[in-house]
Amino acid sequence: MSEKKSTAKRETEPAELESWQPKTSLGKKVKAGKIKNIDEILDNGDRILEPEIVDTLLPGLESELLLIGQSKGKFGGGQRRVFKQTQKKTCEGNRPQFATLAVVGNKNGYIGISYGKSRETVPAREKAIRKAKLNIIKIRRGCGHWQCSCGEPHTIPYTAKGKAGSIRVRLIPAPRGTGLCAHKEIQKILAFAGIKDVWSKTLGKKNTTTNLIRAAELALRNIMKIKYNNAMKIVEGAFERDIKKEFEEAKEETEKVKEEA
Ligand SMILES: [Zn+2]
Repeated sequence: MSEKKSTAKRETEPAELESWQPKTSLGKKVKAGKIKNIDEILDNGDRILEPEIVDTLLPGLESELLLIGQSKGKFGGGQRRVFKQTQKKTCEGNRPQFATLAVVGNKNGYIGISYGKSRETVPAREKAIRKAKLNIIKIRRGCGHWQCSCGEPHTIPYTAKGKAGSIRVRLIPAPRGTGLCAHKEIQKILAFAGIKDVWSKTLGKKNTTTNLIRAAELALRNIMKIKYNNAMKIVEGAFERDIKKEFEEAKEETEKVKEEA
């Protein structure tokens, strides 16, 4: 295995996007310029089936592979590697398979994580990145720690939990300047999401990195599930939400409906 250090790479190439022929109706709308914001897709709950949609709407997307595998051999064996290698025994010999876990993000509120596997390393990486783009989610950020009242979206707005296998991950809002106090692989995801300060607690068998990442991803997804109507400053994706205004608008609407009835 030649991968020593995986650094964040820029994925999008403008020339490729120009020659892109969209196949889905969503893709055609994006290509025609009818949809200019990825939030329109994510809020509707539409399924993205072409990675070019994400490339067009979120330029400057970066990707990285996470360390889920182990190197083999006697000397220096057991070190963390990007590719997880497995083998199937057949009568013709061993049939190896490579799997990897990719994270994509724009460091401003959007990330996607996915697993890809193949009989070679390069297609496994491509599959993982492609699927990660299709799995893109919006992250809600805010200033959620009681000691910090800066109002900037540098951490998460409230505590979030996620679990996968034996692993339980809890992400806790931290004051400004704390940094990312979490497992190294979780740190990578949080940095891609644009979160700068966080405390965390992890229980379970952390050597199973796939489950660790999955649990952290679920915790981030759970942040979006909570409903709120207070005046906390919250940023969803790259855009700020005026919660007070939204709340009053919704109130007016319900009153209108009541009057009509
Ligand atoms: Zn703050």
